[in-house]
Amino acid sequence: MTTTVTGGGVLRPGERWRNWGRVESAAPAHVARPRSVEEVVAVVQSARERGLRVKAVGAGHSFTPIAMTDGVSVDVSALSGVLGVDRTAGRVRLGAGTHLHELPRLLAPYGLALENMGDIDAQTIAGAVSTGTHGTGAAFRGLAANVVGAVLVTGTGEVLAVGDTPGGEADADLLPAVALSLGALGVVVEVTVQCVPAFLLRAVERPLPLAEVLDGFEGFMASTDHVEFYWWPHTDVVMTKANTRLPAGTWHEPPSRVRTWVEKEVVENAALQAVCELGHRVSSVVPSVNRLATRLYGERSVTDVSPRVFTSPRWVRFRECEYALPVEAVPDAVRALRQLVEASGWAISFPVEVRVAASDDVWLSTASGRASGYVAVHRFWKEDHEPYFRAVDALMCSFDGRPHWGKIHYQDATELAGRYPRMADFTAVRDRLDPDRVFANRYLDRVLGP
Ligand SMILES: Cc1cc2nc3c(=O)[nH]c(=O)nc-3n(C[C@H](O)[C@H](O)[C@H](O)COP(=O)(O)OP(=O)(O)OC[C@H]3O[C@@H](n4cnc5c(N)ncnc54)[C@H](O)[C@@H]3O)c2cc1C
Repeated sequence: MTTTVTGGGVLRPGERWRNWGRVESAAPAHVARPRSVEEVVAVVQSARERGLRVKAVGAGHSFTPIAMTDGVSVDVSALSGVLGVDRTAGRVRLGAGTHLHELPRLLAPYGLALENMGDIDAQTIAGAVSTGTHGTGAAFRGLAANVVGAVLVTGTGEVLAVGDTPGGEADADLLPAVALSLGALGVVVEVTVQCVPAFLLRAVERPLPLAEVLDGFEGFMASTDHVEFYWWPHTDVVMTKANTRLPAGTWHEPPSRVRTWVEKEVVENAALQAVCELGHRVSSVVPSVNRLATRLYGERSVTDVSPRVFTSPRWVRFRECEYALPVEAVPDAVRALRQLVEASGWAISFPVEVRVAASDDVWLSTASGRASGYVAVHRFWKEDHEPYFRAVDALMCSFDGRPHWGKIHYQDATELAGRYPRMADFTAVRDRLDPDRVFANRYLDRVLGP
């Protein structure tokens, strides 16, 4: 049955929804696929009249129940593409449902690119910024810090422009809340992103001893533009990745399609899948397999356009939790994590990922007000992640860790308020834009309070 509501917005019977990590599933009463801002307004107003909650959903790549609802699930994928470009400032207005993997094609005519990216490009721009998606780089901030304007439909059904977008100047003071809003302030319909001239990355990967990297941590992580490393539990070795920014047009030989396929699909995915399946069945082999994997590491380097170097396909399903720590706390936190794993008897086949980011001014950013180091742990999706993740959660919080909003964690509003100096400012904006909590769900009740 289809219900037509005022303004052309349509609520359809809900469809069962699952997130990528297969941790969460939901059965919304209705689903709406608005094709215009007016239809989003109609959906929000109709839901209000019926006493239903509303939740926008992106690509479902958050591991938490942050995108779940039993009311109206709003799929904004039709609100997609470039809406306007300020060529002089390098700023691009994007429909909220634009996927990051669409951006290289969309931005190519303007010679622009995102300043930094995380590991994948499956997310929507709204979902990515709403949960604080980040990459790595001591001098570079997360994606939400590059949001300079946005348009959203608030909990009272009003269209609110904020910051650098037509009509948004008057409410520019709301930008530090709206840029990273956990879906709590409204349905975002448009995001204006500060881009940079398109660039290349030269990536160098090589193994190093874990102890050496931790002993010189801050200098090492700042030694190149974008540095990260992966430590396989049960080993002493890390695989380091260091990307250097080069101007577009720098001569380079891009990797062949076959080479890219072998490295990204076969080595990073098929081999990992095989190892995880084996470890899932015979957990006692995991330490030896991890040690063998680190012995096979070699040094390699490649130069290509930035999105192709920043991101990779990820088709081995996993679950993840990740914490932003004061950057100077990371070495001790990783050493403590290592002791925890060794003392526990767990067999962990997935690596621990360590990254860094510059401080930013976005109120709920995990890097808000402090230079940050990120420690992320993963488990193959067929394994019970709970004991490992709960222990890591307690450990990282003892180092003043702020959990990633899109990744599994066990923190609540009281604990989080102590870690985010601007939390009260954010909830004041929430009281103003969503006074009746149209956009609430059980995750927001937990992390922000009712
Ligand atoms: C394989 C994998 C790799 C990842 N790698 C990284 C990484 O490198 N770095 C990193 O930081 N994170 C990473 N993540 C996490 C991921 O980037 C974020 O959690 C992000 O939310 C996913 O975006 P999405 O479009 O899937 O949003 P969803 O998960 O669908 O939604 C997330 C939140 O955004 C809200 N939202 C979505 N659209 C709107 C809208 N239009 N208006 C208002 N609110 C909206 C939802 O309501 C929800 O609250 C990874 C996740 C996976 C599965």
